[in-house]
Amino acid sequence: MDKRIFLPQSEMPTKWYNPMPDLPTPMAPPLDPETLEPLGPEKLSVIFSNAIIAQEMSQDRWIDIPEEVLDVYRIWRPSPLVRAERLERAIGAKCKIFYKDESVSPAGSHKPNTSVPQAYYNKMEGVKRITTETGAGQWGTALGFACAQFGLDCTVYMVKVSFEQKPYRKILINSYGATIYPSPSPATRTGAAMLEKDPDCKGSLGLAISEAVEDAATHDDAKYGLGSVLNHVLIHQTITGLEVKKQMAMIGEKPDYLVGCVGGGSNFAGLVTPYIPEKLAGEKIQFIAIEPKACPTLTRGEYRYDYGDMARLTPLIKMHTLGHSFMPAPIHAGGLRYHGDAPIVCNMVAEGMVDAKAYFQTECFEAAQLFLRTEGYLPAPETSHAIKGAIEVAKTAKAGENVVFLYSGHGMLDLASYDKYMTGEMTNFELPQADIDNALKECPVI
Ligand SMILES: *Cc1c(COP(=O)(O)O)cnc(C)c1O
Repeated sequence: MDKRIFLPQSEMPTKWYNPMPDLPTPMAPPLDPETLEPLGPEKLSVIFSNAIIAQEMSQDRWIDIPEEVLDVYRIWRPSPLVRAERLERAIGAKCKIFYKDESVSPAGSHKPNTSVPQAYYNKMEGVKRITTETGAGQWGTALGFACAQFGLDCTVYMVKVSFEQKPYRKILINSYGATIYPSPSPATRTGAAMLEKDPDCKGSLGLAISEAVEDAATHDDAKYGLGSVLNHVLIHQTITGLEVKKQMAMIGEKPDYLVGCVGGGSNFAGLVTPYIPEKLAGEKIQFIAIEPKACPTLTRGEYRYDYGDMARLTPLIKMHTLGHSFMPAPIHAGGLRYHGDAPIVCNMVAEGMVDAKAYFQTECFEAAQLFLRTEGYLPAPETSHAIKGAIEVAKTAKAGENVVFLYSGHGMLDLASYDKYMTGEMTNFELPQADIDNALKECPVI
């Protein structure tokens, strides 16, 4: 059997899959943060392009990928599906393990799958600049790349803890031509207010989102781009799962377990949602979501309406949440430090269609190091969670079964985190229940 399964470019999917019409229970509508009534599209148009709003609310099962987007995708897509035989042997697995390698994109992660269409749709509607937040820096890199492709300006608010931990990310984002601020920053009202309260604040994704949304909402030629959570982002990511389907068919196999790490839920949903029809038709296929114990949204959060950001500027969405004021511990998987999760993923968790598991960061780095020493590649700290999850599943899976996980990004700019792991300086955070209870008290009662 081939180790690397390549799909010819002529076979690349030309439509994204939208899981919305196939979900067993309809999605709860987003609510206006001021009136608490279901949100009309007019409100969203302050920060999003019309094409993106249409996708956010779409009930069409298939959405055409514009030719200009396909053309940029072809720089690296279709991405390879790789059999991890050496990892299988190292853990004594009876099953086969495959990984869908999204680290081959220019930005080094799955995120350009959505940054490219977002930049394209904004460009088509005359937008000049896109604002955004970034945690570990992966999304800022992806949006910087996409804006450079379409000649747009880009402003990135980067969570301060990552800004300090990952200086090379900042340089890379700058090199693509984007402007970057550590968040909280004095550049916005929200950021300045936080700095006044706590000058040493290390920031959070929720806070950086507030800054980027405020910037877009207060400038006419700017819109905002979100790298995860929302429906349109998850739809764009389905290109990965759709390719996996074709690649597994090429070798006459089917997945029994699909595994992905969850920050906001987009890479996980991209892999698993194209398999919803099979699952609902009764095929035995398990969707497994992996998150950090320091930010255990799906495993310990409450399923309720909450704000997407700290300053309560975003619509209220129904999701598993740790509370919008929750400030996660500074773990190295910066991309997994978000208080909520994608409503589509939460809907599936509530329906019992997804199994969620949480692990400590040191056990994930241990898994990442085993992957590095067997398969040879260096995973991103976020991706290490998917690897840990896949290894645990593979240890008990039967001969003839297939585990497929999404390899969301490489860790070549995360070497400082590996150093901390190897020198024994990395610590684990188990979130006290009181912290969750306190943050949840600030959620609106609806
Ligand atoms: C952003 C990121 C994640 C988490 O985001 P999701 O929306 O949950 O996919 C995971 N892995 C990598 C490499 C990332 O950059």
